[in-house]
Amino acid sequence: MRAAYAAELGGAEPLDNLEIGDRPDPSPGPGEVRVRVRAVSLNHHDYFTLRGIVGYPIQPPRILGCDASGVVESYGSDASADAPPVGSDVAVYPVRRCGRCIACQGHDPMLCRRFEMLSDGDFEGSLAQYVVVPARSVVPKPAAFTHEQTACMGVSFLTAYRMLFVKAALAPGQSVLVQGAGGGLATAAIALAAAAGMTVFASSRSSEKLEAARALGAQHAVAAGKDAYKEVLRLTGGAGVDAVIESVGEPTWGTSLRSVRQGGAIVVAGATAGANPPADLARVFWRQLRVLGSTMGTFPEFVQLLKFVEARGVKPVIDATYPLADARTAFARLAAGDVFGKLVITID
Ligand SMILES: [Zn+2]
Repeated sequence: MRAAYAAELGGAEPLDNLEIGDRPDPSPGPGEVRVRVRAVSLNHHDYFTLRGIVGYPIQPPRILGCDASGVVESYGSDASADAPPVGSDVAVYPVRRCGRCIACQGHDPMLCRRFEMLSDGDFEGSLAQYVVVPARSVVPKPAAFTHEQTACMGVSFLTAYRMLFVKAALAPGQSVLVQGAGGGLATAAIALAAAAGMTVFASSRSSEKLEAARALGAQHAVAAGKDAYKEVLRLTGGAGVDAVIESVGEPTWGTSLRSVRQGGAIVVAGATAGANPPADLARVFWRQLRVLGSTMGTFPEFVQLLKFVEARGVKPVIDATYPLADARTAFARLAAGDVFGKLVITID
C-alpha cells in the first residue's frame, strides 16, 4: 500500500526524513479492525516524530499520522456484534493504552503510563491506504461531516474539548482566552467554546488570523505581545478571564499568567514555540492560579465531542487538502506554521 513514512528520525533537515512510497499491507489481528483510510489531518506530533522527538522509542521506517477517517474494511477473528459494519464510514480514536493498569481501570484512562498515539511506539500511523487499530477505537462518522472534516476530530478537537470542558471545566457564560489563534488546536478551541456559550478571547500576532478568529466565534481579538494582557484586563473590567488555553509556550506564557483571573485555570497542551518560559511562581501562588496539563482525551470524551459538533453544527477549519503524493508540501507548511486551521491529506 502507499504510505507517508519517516525513513529516519532527527537530523538537521527533518523534512528530508519523509518518504512517500510502498509499505506492507497490515492485517487485523484478534480484536482489531482494518480501516480503508480516506482522510488524515496533520498534527505537530507528526513533525515532532520526523524531528526525532518521541515519547517512546521508534524503529523507522514508521508510517506517520495520528488522525484518520475512513471505511471499515475487515475485522480480525472476533468482531463484536455491535461494531460498525464492514463498509461503514468511521472516525478513528487515535489513542492506544494498556487497558490493564490502575489508571485504565479508574476514572481517567488518559493517565495510563503506556498511553500512546497512532504512530507512536510499536504502532504504525494512519497516513496510508490502510490502518489497523483496536476494533473498539472506531465510531460512526458524523453523517453531516465529510471524511476530511472527520479527520480533524481525533487530535485537535479532542484535545481542545478536554481542555475546555474537562480540565478547565468551563460553563456557559464564562470566558476563555485562546492563545495563538491559527493552529489546529486553537481554531478548534475557539469554535467549541463559542458553540458552548463562552465569551472567547483570541490572541495572535497576525491581524488576518485575528479576523479569521472573529469569524469562528471569538468576540474579542487581541494583538499578541507584551501588552496583550492589558487589553484582556480592560475588556474584563480588570478581572481577567476564567481560563486560558495555552499551546504556544514561551512567547505567550507571561500573557497567560497576567490575563487569567484570581484562581483561574491555565490549561497547557503544547509548547510549540518553546517549553521553558519564566515560571513567575509568585504570581502563581499569590493569585492562586491553577496550571493544568492536558493531553488528548478519553474515548467517552471523543464520542461526546462527535455528538457535540454534530448537534451544534461546529465544523473544523480546513486550510488546505493535499493528495498523499503531495504530503511533503503539507508537512513543509506545518513546519513553517503558516496555517489557519488544519492541513488534510486525502487518500484515494
Ligand atoms: Zn493503562
